[in-house]
Amino acid sequence: MKASVDQDGCISCGLCIDVCPEVFSYNENEVSQAIEGDIPENCLERAEEARDGCPVSVIDLFE
Ligand code: SF4
Repeated sequence: MKASVDQDGCISCGLCIDVCPEVFSYNENEVSQAIEGDIPENCLERAEEARDGCPVSVIDLFE
């Protein structure tokens, strides 16, 4: 499972980074971006929590 963030939609609220910092971090534009590779197994639940909690629903999890 991988994650992506719609760079045009993120409002930089920081929720995903608080919930799952192993996967999400601010980039140089101060919007959240996801790691490129697979989400570590032990972070999957929290990555889903971040996706579900994103106030503007711009996090996608995909195979
Ligand atoms: S939760 Fe959504 S809006 Fe907030 S920083 Fe993460 S991707 Fe951006």
